[in-house]
Amino acid sequence: MNSVRLPHLKASAEISTAPLFLPKSVMVSLSMSIGAPCEPVVKIGDTVKTGQLIADSDAFMSAPVHAPVTGVVTRETTLTAANGKKTRALVIETANKQELSDEVKPPVINSREDFLKAVRASGAVGQGGAGFPLHIKLGFDPKKQPVDYLLINGAECEPYTTSDYRELIERGEDVISGIKLILRHISIPKAIIGIESDKPLAIKKMRSLTENEPDISVAPLPTGYPQGAEKVLVYSCTKRVVNEGSLPVSAGCVVVNVSTTAFVARYIKTGVPLIEKRVSIDGDIVNKPENIFVPIGTTLAEITARTNLRLVPGKVIFGGMMMGTTVYDPDTPVTKTTGAILFFAGTGSAEKPLTSCIRCARCVNACSMSLAPTELEHAFDRKDAALLQKLHVNLCMDCGACSYVCPAGRNLAEKNQLAKAFLRSKGSLSKIG
Ligand code: SF4
Ligand code: SF4
Repeated sequence: MNSVRLPHLKASAEISTAPLFLPKSVMVSLSMSIGAPCEPVVKIGDTVKTGQLIADSDAFMSAPVHAPVTGVVTRETTLTAANGKKTRALVIETANKQELSDEVKPPVINSREDFLKAVRASGAVGQGGAGFPLHIKLGFDPKKQPVDYLLINGAECEPYTTSDYRELIERGEDVISGIKLILRHISIPKAIIGIESDKPLAIKKMRSLTENEPDISVAPLPTGYPQGAEKVLVYSCTKRVVNEGSLPVSAGCVVVNVSTTAFVARYIKTGVPLIEKRVSIDGDIVNKPENIFVPIGTTLAEITARTNLRLVPGKVIFGGMMMGTTVYDPDTPVTKTTGAILFFAGTGSAEKPLTSCIRCARCVNACSMSLAPTELEHAFDRKDAALLQKLHVNLCMDCGACSYVCPAGRNLAEKNQLAKAFLRSKGSLSKIG
């Protein structure tokens, strides 16, 4: 598969994660999965304890939200999430004394249904970026759709991001426990842990932990972006192809992020739901790149205040350099899917001036889905829906590799996002790529 080589900027990789940073308040989004937003189950003025359920939804596709700190719910607000969407959020002022809620208890599991119920109650969503509720991903019907492989995504192929790598190094045992729990309760025969070859220490550690685990193997993956994209990972680990408009389960694979897998193990053992995140702090103006544990809901303002920066940031990205989102609001909070916060001096807007396409084909050679980004751009500019479909725009994963390599500074990936929205508005595109 095509890929691009990005600079190996992983300065925080070999530094142990800093202990939990406790902010003065947290702003907890009620919409942290790709599913339906949650409704609060607590009121303004309530005192909540760490791990207590504070919002939930009856919708099939959703995941509950828990108090990341002990404190008082002071207000509800609307914020602009990193993805640009307006979402409701609860503000909790942090108390001096932190206490675990009485609701926090290890779940009792005697069946597949119990396990899926526990995974839902944990609030688990894919922490790698998409925020797909984990109980839905694992809740496939094995009679209709047999699954052969659980693929653990440890690729982490973007520059600056090292939070999954630190999970493998610091809590690799939890990753293995999580894998074994999923294999046993969901009846998947084999697991493969996919790790890019440029992370030899993580590969060595996971190989030593799986020496006596015949059903779990470690696959060193080619180093290249976007190795961590689900379709690419499925192909790299199994040589199976996920067809357009389908999920990996259609190819007999379920893909779960490394940190999500380890979290499942800890939840089943302790009952502490998903309330904190390891976040990589890096970028060209960060003096001491690091990973820190923060409560979900910690705002950009609080993180900026504790970060050693050389200059006032011109640009802040939540997530990776390639697929992350530029944020402007200091109130933007860490969510269940935030893996990195990157600070840069420049705004990035004038880095590559926009010029005409020179037909160099670099975008075509960069695309791991074998698309023709330049042709897609022309088709979108002409609003040619039939041609966009013929060129399989739905396969575009928004990875940005084509825009990255384009010497003409053309925003090809952005155009594809607009093209997909255009087709969706015409009712001629599924939500799945
Ligand atoms: S953004 Fe889409 S078209 Fe561009 S390289 Fe990635 S998958 Fe291919
Ligand atoms: S990389 Fe840019 S300049 Fe080259 S063919 Fe693609 S759009 Fe044109």
